Amino acid sequence: MSLRSRGRRRTRLMELFIQLFVFLIIVYSLYITSIQIGIKWLIFYHGYRILGGIYVAAVLFLLPLLGIVYIWLSLGRNTHSTPRYPLPDKDDLTEPYECVNPDGDLATCSKCNGAWKPPRSHHCSTCGVCRIEFDHHCPWVGNCVTRSRMKAFLFMLFLAPVAYVVSVFPIYRTLTRHMSLALTVSQHDAWAKRVWWDWFGSWIFAGGPFGRWIFGMALGFRILKAQRNPDAPIIEQPTLRLFVICALGSIFSLFTLTLALWTLKDLVRGLTTLDVMQGRRQKHPSRFVCIPGDTPRVRDFPEASRRNVVPVIDGERLYDLGFWSNLRDVFDSRPYHGTNTALYGWPKINPVVLDRMRKMTQSQNISIDNTNN
Ligand SMILES: [Zn+2]
Ligand SMILES: [Zn+2]
Repeated sequence: MSLRSRGRRRTRLMELFIQLFVFLIIVYSLYITSIQIGIKWLIFYHGYRILGGIYVAAVLFLLPLLGIVYIWLSLGRNTHSTPRYPLPDKDDLTEPYECVNPDGDLATCSKCNGAWKPPRSHHCSTCGVCRIEFDHHCPWVGNCVTRSRMKAFLFMLFLAPVAYVVSVFPIYRTLTRHMSLALTVSQHDAWAKRVWWDWFGSWIFAGGPFGRWIFGMALGFRILKAQRNPDAPIIEQPTLRLFVICALGSIFSLFTLTLALWTLKDLVRGLTTLDVMQGRRQKHPSRFVCIPGDTPRVRDFPEASRRNVVPVIDGERLYDLGFWSNLRDVFDSRPYHGTNTALYGWPKINPVVLDRMRKMTQSQNISIDNTNN
């Protein structure tokens, strides 16, 4: 087994653990919210039938939906959007296209037996396949996020905080009351003082001063466990498990919301996550745009057809079509996945960039013509 495939297997295994972890959190949240909070606490303990019913219906809709979108995004790791088009003949192309060198050659993938890599495609080293309209490889879903999956990806990122806020809404005040109680109990307990609060390591381990406070509170929950009433619902009693799942949920929600806004910010500027990452790198492969000449292709007289190739300037947003067009592009269309190259939809090039390139080639051609004359 090669070093690369061994590394890929290791990454795959790690991603499977992450997926299992996320999935278990969703399933456990579903149990806590519907059974413990909704049925046992709201409906039976407090007698809020209507409110409890609405709450149970909401979580039974939101959390499984989140789980389904999550699973869907993780599927098709080795199959989806692998380019299967034959390499087009560059002499047949009439519209401007992105190319890899001043000869106007199209990109091919050395890792996929020299297969054509359509513009904006990328070979994902983790999945081991080329992806059309690649954005990034997400270790959380263990799969690539491409343009055709972007809608579902963004939906999941926005759905997670909504599901979290709805889930925590009825227990918010009870939970904060339990948290402050656990903290007070912990700070006044002789054992907790000895093992944690008075120990200098508490400032360093568990994540600094903030972690010291969180871990101290967790100890408080442990002390309160001894005073638990077995007959009352668990929501009524300070429980470490509930605190941990709520804390994890808030961290996840903040993370997904930030990621969603960050991704959207780039998308409306016509950039993929990969574009942004490559733009930051000192060294990245040069990009060119080939503008096929106005003269129709004459196979026997190649000199008759002019091929103008212009390098893309660093920082130039080649596929930026303006805010609304970029946004529509994300939600509207999806790339073609068939095998007919003629049906493949070439990504549209930024008209401003194209205009600059056309002007440049025109002035160059005039000067060449003048020299020839
Ligand atoms: Zn490839
Ligand atoms: Zn991937």
